[in-house]
Amino acid sequence: MNNPFDPGHIQEEKAEREARRLKLRTNLLIALFCAALAGFVAVLYQTQIVRGSDYRANSAVRIPQTEQVNSVRGEIVDTCGRMLVTNEVSYNVELDTSAMGSERNGILRRLLEICREEGVEWADSLPISKTAPWTFTTDTPYSYQGENGDGEPEEKATSLGSLAALPQYKWLDKSDPQKENPSAGELLSSMCASFRLIDVKKGEVPGATERELAGVLYELYLRSNSINNNTYVFARGVDITFISKVKENALAGVRIETATTRRYGTSYAAHVLGYTGAIDPGSEWEHYQELDYPMNATVGKEGVELAFEEQLHGTSGTRRIVKDQDGNVISQEWSKEPEPGDNAVLTLDMALQATTEDLLAQYAARQEVKVGEDGEPEPAKGMAAAVVDMSGGVLALASYPTYDLSTFRENYSELLADKSEPLNNRATMGRYAPGSTFKMLTAVAALSEKKITPRERIECTGTYTFYTTPQPHCWIWPGRHNWENVTDAIKDSCNCFFFEAGRRTGIAKLREYAQQFGLGEYTGIELAEEKGWVAGPETSEHFDLPWFDGNTLNASIGQDNNMFTPLQLANYVATLVNGGNHYACHLLKEFKSSDYSRVTQTYDAAPLNTIDIDPAHLAAIKQGMYDLSKTYTMARWFDSLPVEVGCKTGTAETSAKAASTNAVFVCFAPYDDPQIALCLVAEGGDAGGSLAELAAGILAQYFSTGGSLSAVAGENTLLR
Ligand SMILES: [Zn+2]
Repeated sequence: MNNPFDPGHIQEEKAEREARRLKLRTNLLIALFCAALAGFVAVLYQTQIVRGSDYRANSAVRIPQTEQVNSVRGEIVDTCGRMLVTNEVSYNVELDTSAMGSERNGILRRLLEICREEGVEWADSLPISKTAPWTFTTDTPYSYQGENGDGEPEEKATSLGSLAALPQYKWLDKSDPQKENPSAGELLSSMCASFRLIDVKKGEVPGATERELAGVLYELYLRSNSINNNTYVFARGVDITFISKVKENALAGVRIETATTRRYGTSYAAHVLGYTGAIDPGSEWEHYQELDYPMNATVGKEGVELAFEEQLHGTSGTRRIVKDQDGNVISQEWSKEPEPGDNAVLTLDMALQATTEDLLAQYAARQEVKVGEDGEPEPAKGMAAAVVDMSGGVLALASYPTYDLSTFRENYSELLADKSEPLNNRATMGRYAPGSTFKMLTAVAALSEKKITPRERIECTGTYTFYTTPQPHCWIWPGRHNWENVTDAIKDSCNCFFFEAGRRTGIAKLREYAQQFGLGEYTGIELAEEKGWVAGPETSEHFDLPWFDGNTLNASIGQDNNMFTPLQLANYVATLVNGGNHYACHLLKEFKSSDYSRVTQTYDAAPLNTIDIDPAHLAAIKQGMYDLSKTYTMARWFDSLPVEVGCKTGTAETSAKAASTNAVFVCFAPYDDPQIALCLVAEGGDAGGSLAELAAGILAQYFSTGGSLSAVAGENTLLR
């Protein structure tokens, strides 16, 4: 990496500049946080000291408590230091009923009034309509069909069902026919009576206000009964006007706490970044409890937020607080200060990521105007792209259709129901037949095993006649390629050449090489990924299909049961053109301390295995990929690039319908000193060649125009 023209080197320098800028910004954030805390203390001062005479009598009772305090979550930046995910300071309203005493209902009534005046929304998961006539908002209010530990169906109580059946409430009582399955109205009346919101004996019935109060009390009762916790976050992200009103009313047990929420610096890379959320009491609490997380901690749920949870989270702190009997904190002392999490620096280049996602969306938009057999426009087909460097670093990873992290919670049910599966990360989860992009693998295996030589010519007559059956055709049939060597055969994508090369090599060796190139193996990326399948007798057996020697022919040209992810295919090309060093894929570049001053952990890229490829063999294969880029259909996209490329197209029939095909395209650049490799897949795409335009757009972004390198492109020219 000593070449000053190397983008990696330039990015390093840029990252350093960015880091310095970021440190300033982080300090600002911390300052803001302190200012917020100071404001809080000022309000306390006002209540405790200035208006002290009213309160002193109450403060005589002091209640010491120990609280866990969440650490500030680390940020996520791209390889150049561009901010992708950061934190925003916000104010939450927490309720502590233990401090409300007999005034509880009055305090809550007043709080809800203030909320309505200020338009503040609060948490309410009670599944009863907000206004009369009372109806359940779910089909299964009390119980649902779940599974027991052995996977047997079992009727399970919902949160409401468990609470309603508790002996102290008996809102629901299986032994009493009157209360076996109460309607929403009956349940609400019982709840409101228990909560002393209405007097049933006087014939009072709940109204909309009582329903609102019952909703808040339901949340509180749920917590005090299930996790033995008297506090809960009533509303998030409230503003200063609301806070002053709450303070003016001196509502005991209503606390304003500072918190942080995630803010996104990009609308791209949703599948990579993932998101955070509250700990799930059922599936996650046990795990995080062992790690000493507070129950109200925010944790990673998907993507790198989940993968780097340990480093991003930091260490929660513990403070001893002393409260008066109204729940006001009158002193605090840290027994352990919270330590902020580390910041994650990704290998991702956001300029490249944005270009890649935009190009996929544009291509898909052109495809969508297609009309299906029934005359209706066909639904959006999926697309995927993966761009890697020569040591497995992921520079861009895109899946179409995608979603926006800042709005996905509101649209979640739509996204989940969408048949084009926008939540699915096709780049690591999609399994596609590689088609002819597999031919380089067959070539390496056949050359390395000395079954063919770089100069040997094999005849294509349009039909491969070694076996009596099958006798598959070359794609050019009824035409023919005549005599071709391995370089010609890659350029022309001659099937007959690779039928012969694959047959001589044998399926066992093909599988062995595929595995060494990481095909049908986990790439190691920090995201959820599929492993895929390498065609062969073992795979056919798994799918309950027969295997004949003739199957090797189709396997040699990337058909049969070969199924790989786009990321695997990109990394396979990188492994090939870097000379045979197979690296794990990774998104992590390094972790930095919370102020960006220190690198706390660097990703150590070391080859998983090395394939001994004869340079002459590699040269013959690369030459075929280069020659293809110079053919008329390819050259019109690649000729204007500042670098030379090598490429290979693939078109694979999908297993279900022969009429439906997926288009696959792989390439690398620069040809004489490869730095990046990429794979594009279009579900239902016509032919791999149609993806060349997209590939050229991605390469243009990386090597010449716009984005991460635009600032330096003028200073030290990357153009060749
Ligand atoms: Zn041929």
